[in-house]
Amino acid sequence: MSTLEPIAPALLAWFYQNARSLPFRQDPTPYHIWVSEIMLQQTRVAAALEYYERWMKELPTIQDLAECSEEKLHKLWEGLGYYSRVRNLQKAARIVCEQYGGELPADYKKLLELPGIGEYTAGAIGSIAFHLPVPAVDGNVLRVFSRLYNNSGDIMSPKVKKEFTEWVMEHQPPETPGDYNEALMELGALICLPNGEPLCEQCPLAHLCRARAAGKQMELPVKKAAKARRIQTVTVALIRSEAGFLVQQRPKKGLLAGLWQPILFEECLTQPQVQQRLNELGVQVEWDEPLAQAKHVFSHIEWHMFGWHATAKAVPLPKGYTWATPDQLTSEYTLPNAFKAYKIFLQQ
Ligand code: SF4
Repeated sequence: MSTLEPIAPALLAWFYQNARSLPFRQDPTPYHIWVSEIMLQQTRVAAALEYYERWMKELPTIQDLAECSEEKLHKLWEGLGYYSRVRNLQKAARIVCEQYGGELPADYKKLLELPGIGEYTAGAIGSIAFHLPVPAVDGNVLRVFSRLYNNSGDIMSPKVKKEFTEWVMEHQPPETPGDYNEALMELGALICLPNGEPLCEQCPLAHLCRARAAGKQMELPVKKAAKARRIQTVTVALIRSEAGFLVQQRPKKGLLAGLWQPILFEECLTQPQVQQRLNELGVQVEWDEPLAQAKHVFSHIEWHMFGWHATAKAVPLPKGYTWATPDQLTSEYTLPNAFKAYKIFLQQ
């Protein structure tokens, strides 16, 4: 496919006029860019900002991150989901402290070797913080290029992504790789929108855009549907006593590793069946109203949740469980978002 006329001059002129003022842009250190990029995966900018500010107040350096306790780390991430991201941040921070004196390396390949840093994140840190001439191609950039080139390749395909990345690099000005990468992402976030009509009338690249010329912008990008998620039925029991709620920590490996949860069975149980399981734990209860059904979507699994609510009579603490007050469940124990529907009970 023939290449486009240069896009960088019009794109950068637009970016310098219209870029959102974001805290990590005001002080784009490698650490700031790294943390913000990891937070922004799967999270909207507006939602991530509050987390970012709190994080930098609590953990201003890579060394602080390396030394942070697991509970505090989970608490700083509570609500963002995909907790493997924050665990990888800490693993990488420890390696950076051991191998690079506490500073991220200004080297794309070395960045890629760190846990949780893939091509996109290495490209963002490398180009924005270190001014390296490397690509940073996320979903926004793929969408912009599929439209600019009017290309109907499936953007989930590695081959298509590689081809688009080559085009991205053909247009990258060597003197401002970071600004250019950010400008592309910003154009995708603000103008060449993912849902609904792109704002072509306001687009600095409209005069070059082949999808616009062909009236195809709404048909692009082509993205093959992901595999269907597995449905898992889950029964949650909120057991309350004067000492708080009965909670347990999830295993150190696997889904929601190390986070806290109310009593949970990975199957659909009736109230008598839950009663029987509780009897086995030595817990006697009086039942309250059943809770509303809820759903939580992970990347590969969907939990369909049935909830029961009960008050415990005086009981010994079952092995592996602990009582946690609503205050502790707010400030100390990290409850993943999967239990969002029940937090109204657990944190009051
Ligand atoms: S003209 Fe429209 S479709 Fe083309 S890049 Fe700009 S916003 Fe996207």
